This record gives sequence, structure tokens and C-alpha cells, in this order.
Amino acid sequence: MNYEWDTVTGEILSKRPADVEIALGKEHPGVEDFMALVSPAAAAYIEPMAQLSRKYTQERFGKTVSMYIPMYITNSCTNSCVYCGFNRHNLIERVVLTPEQIEDECKAIRRLGPFENLLLVTGENPAVAGVDYLEKALQVCRPYFNNLTMEVMPLASEDYARLAKSGLNGVVCFQETYNRLNYKTYHPAGMKSKFEWRVNGFDRMGQAGLHKIGLGVLIGLEDWRTDITMMAMHLQYLRKRYWRTRYSVNFPRMRPAEGHFQPNVTMSDRELAQAIFAFRIFDHDVDISVSTREAPDFRDHIATLGATSLSAGSKTDPGGYYTYPKSLEQFAVSDERTPNEVADAIRKSGYEAVWKDWDKIFD
Ligand code: SF4
Repeated sequence: MNYEWDTVTGEILSKRPADVEIALGKEHPGVEDFMALVSPAAAAYIEPMAQLSRKYTQERFGKTVSMYIPMYITNSCTNSCVYCGFNRHNLIERVVLTPEQIEDECKAIRRLGPFENLLLVTGENPAVAGVDYLEKALQVCRPYFNNLTMEVMPLASEDYARLAKSGLNGVVCFQETYNRLNYKTYHPAGMKSKFEWRVNGFDRMGQAGLHKIGLGVLIGLEDWRTDITMMAMHLQYLRKRYWRTRYSVNFPRMRPAEGHFQPNVTMSDRELAQAIFAFRIFDHDVDISVSTREAPDFRDHIATLGATSLSAGSKTDPGGYYTYPKSLEQFAVSDERTPNEVADAIRKSGYEAVWKDWDKIFD
């Protein structure tokens, strides 16, 4: 991508109400229109944006919300992301779950709810949790869940392909921020400090033929409008190149974590909703995921307006479901309801909570 951060920011801020109205009038808005939809000028159009977003979401996904649950398998990490509780400088107990412990987690999750979509989450420490370890983890989880996704350090294309053979269906990776200049301020050391290796990882996922690729930025580091626009451009690029792949986007707002980092920018509920609507209007098919970092009320509402998958019952510490000796959470969750409580709230809104939307026989 050859877009300069400051240029994109300037273009977004230059958008006027007329640009928003043009964007809302197009069935398939382009990047310029997306900029208008996330601009301050679009704040006055939140109602028509919500209606359009709801319409496209229902046309593509019906009145359904896909349910998933994360399983943290290690908090061991060689990186030092300044906002993260797993930062290598934090003096916390490091846990790398054994295959037996991973299996206990699988059983504990199955007792929580009829989850079939599992998101395995790891820190970045190839020496203790490299590709062999990840492959083993997938093999252990495979009999318990139909759909396995992994939030994992960027890998080589052949490693993604190898993991796909062991049941990996999709990969989620957070670029965190597309601000190349400031990226290193937040990621000063380790492999994660390498912006290019990370941003090009999505191409390697596409080349490996992964079924689903998830993009993410962390809201709280840099101007959210620019970061989200860059992610939309990235999504558009990936769709053109790897058109067989399904895509998801994720833009959680920063929550407290060990390390005392304070967000540089804030995003109100209304702005988060605006960003979700903008994404849906821009890309009718993309899966928009909202995690338990967000509060119950917000999640219940947004699930009827544009979001298409919700996590529930999440623990963000390795072993958290089976309750191995309590270790530090990566971040505090906002929505502490049980999975069944979340599903009930979805049903009360007239929607269906979908636990299974993939079968391993498709792999
Ligand atoms: S955000 Fe990920 S890579 Fe960075 S310190 Fe935390 S676990 Fe490690």
C-alpha cells in the first residue's frame, strides 16, 4: 500500500456533508466514500448509516450472530508492546499450556456452551511456542471444535499452510496501527517491531490459501479514523488478490492492562458504532467481530446493526477456563455475562445465536 498516513488523515478531515451523502447513495462505496463515512462530517448521519448497515447485514447474514470463544494457550512473549500485560518486561508468571492442559481447557469450554468456533490466542515466543507447538495445540483442539482460528505471530507462508493441514481454518492478526512512523514507539523490540514483516503477513496467509483472514487495529494508539481507513484499504487490496478467502475485521478499544499504558486517543460508543456502520456499508460481506472488551449494552445493540460475531464467556489468561493457577489476564473484559446470557440477549433482540457455521468436513 502506498498511502501516506498524513495524506489519508487530511483527506478524511476534508470530507463534507455532501461527500457523506454521495457515499450513502452508492451501493458499493469506494475508499474515498469510506473516508467520508468515518469523517467527523458523518457524525450527523449516524441514523441513516445505522439503517443502511442493518439492511446490508440482514441481506448477507440474516438475523444471526456467530458466537466464538478465545482460548489463550500461552502468555509467554518476547515482544514488549507497551500497552500489553504480556509485555516481556512485566514480571508475571509465564504459562505455556501443555497438550493435556489444552485438552482440559477444551472440555471446560464445552461445558460453558455449545461453542464450535474456537479462537486460539498466543503470545510470540517461537522458542517455547513455535509452529510445532501450535500444530500440536490444533491437533488437541480439533476433536472438540469444528472451526479453529488462531491469533498468532506472523508466520511464513509454508507454516500457515502446514497448520491449515492440522485443522487451522483462519488466522487473525492485529496490525495494531498502520502508522508506520510511530509503530515502533509501541512495539520497540522483538519480531513485532518489524512493521513490514507484520503487514505483509496477510499476503502470506492469502498465499497459503487460508479459508479466513482477520484484520485488526487496536483503538487507542493513533487516530482511529486513519487507522480504520488504512485497514479498509488493506481489506480491499486483499480481497482483489485472494478472492477465495473470507475476511473479518476487528477494532477493539483499549482496555486496562498491566503496564499502565494510557490510550493516546479515545473513541466514544457513538464513534465505534459509526466505524462499524462505515465498514458494513463499504464491504457488505465482511465479518465484523466485537469482543468482550465492549460493554454488554453496546454489544447487544450493535449485534442488530452491523456486527456479525461476538465472543462470550472469555478468559484472557492461559488456563482460565479450567482454572489452572491464576495468571495475569491480557486485558480486563467488560462483558462478563455467561455465553448463555449473551445468547439469550441476542434471542430477545429477535436474532439467532449461531454456535456452528462451519463443519470440519469442508476442510
Ligand atoms: S500484544 Fe501480543 S506480541 Fe505484544 S506483548 Fe502482548 S502478547 Fe506479546
